[in-house]
Amino acid sequence: ESVAKISAKLLSELGRAFKIEMHALNISCSIGAAFYPNDGDTFEMLLQNADTALYQAKFNGRNVFQYFTSEMNVKAQERLYLENQMRLGLAEGQFSVEFQPQIHLGTLEVTGMEALLRWQHPVMGAVSPSVFIPVAEDSGLMIELGKFALTEACMAATRLYLPNKPITVSVNISIIQFQRGNIVALVKDILAITQFPPHLLELEITESLLASDPDKVVAVIQTLKQLGVRFAIDDFGIGYSSFNYLKRFNVDKIKIDQSFITDIVYSHEDQVIVNAIIQLAHSLEMECIAEGVETEAQKAMLKAMRCDQIQGFVCAKSMSSAAMQQYLS
Ligand code: C2E
Ligand code: CA
Ligand code: CA
Repeated sequence: ESVAKISAKLLSELGRAFKIEMHALNISCSIGAAFYPNDGDTFEMLLQNADTALYQAKFNGRNVFQYFTSEMNVKAQERLYLENQMRLGLAEGQFSVEFQPQIHLGTLEVTGMEALLRWQHPVMGAVSPSVFIPVAEDSGLMIELGKFALTEACMAATRLYLPNKPITVSVNISIIQFQRGNIVALVKDILAITQFPPHLLELEITESLLASDPDKVVAVIQTLKQLGVRFAIDDFGIGYSSFNYLKRFNVDKIKIDQSFITDIVYSHEDQVIVNAIIQLAHSLEMECIAEGVETEAQKAMLKAMRCDQIQGFVCAKSMSSAAMQQYLS
């Protein structure tokens, strides 16, 4: 209790603006605390656990005080385990890429496919990308994993490519790859190695990327677009959508997030939102695709709204490239 009181006092003192010359400066502070002997009986152990608590405090928001708990330790251990296993798994070929078809609602033909990473671990079994992608992004492994996904997708898609029936391949690009990897060089290299036609490659980025460093992102997108590469905005509608960015970034496609599709048949609000997104896309001369379409009723409604394409279990789940070959024929 006394530690909590002291921490609160520290936070409030440090939370006040500091007047330095003419300037009022603000800093934020986060505190993590671990206790002897419950949380560790060596200096190293205590420091490590206080650090884990600090990490959690920062995660919870600025100006927060956080005690160490053993669950935190479990979480930190899990993260570390996953990270190490991922490194090993990449070297041992446990990762692969699957494809999910994208169907044109007018012609009902396959016009594209999304490449999705899969991890088959010898003990844990199939690990979901929503579990391992965030860990990869935190640990720096995302650069390597992203390179793997792009290479595999282009290599497999070169074989699936049919001359009279162009099929785009969409690859998810993490914000980390934009910030820390040389994405332009990577895409150029992979296109050169695989000989995959650039105009059939679509990169999926999220709205948060657009907001992160607009000038740099615009430059990168423009450079890649000059090669012929297309861009889609993934999970559209759940982040901070800036119409200004949308115009500036000159993307080709909007992917309407699954959360608006799930209840679309019953929810008037969702119908209004989806309709508005479709109109917006078309007014800006972009295509739009609805994600996570599971039923015929959802599909019919999207068709009536003039949505261009759909992707979801109603057409097919993701599959290996061999299965995709069969699906296409
Ligand atoms: P996402 O990009 O939004 O991918 C769509 C997710 O929805 C996929 O999950 C897909 O399997 C799932 N899905 C497709 N149709 C349906 C449907 O009708 N109903 C339902 N309930 N789900 C459907 P998945 O494969 O688990 O991927 C999860 C997320 O992991 C992806 O979300 C994406 O953000 C990320 N991810 C996957 N592969 C990569 C990658 O190569 N690079 C990066 N950076 N992220 C990836
Ligand atoms: Ca995606
Ligand atoms: Ca999505």
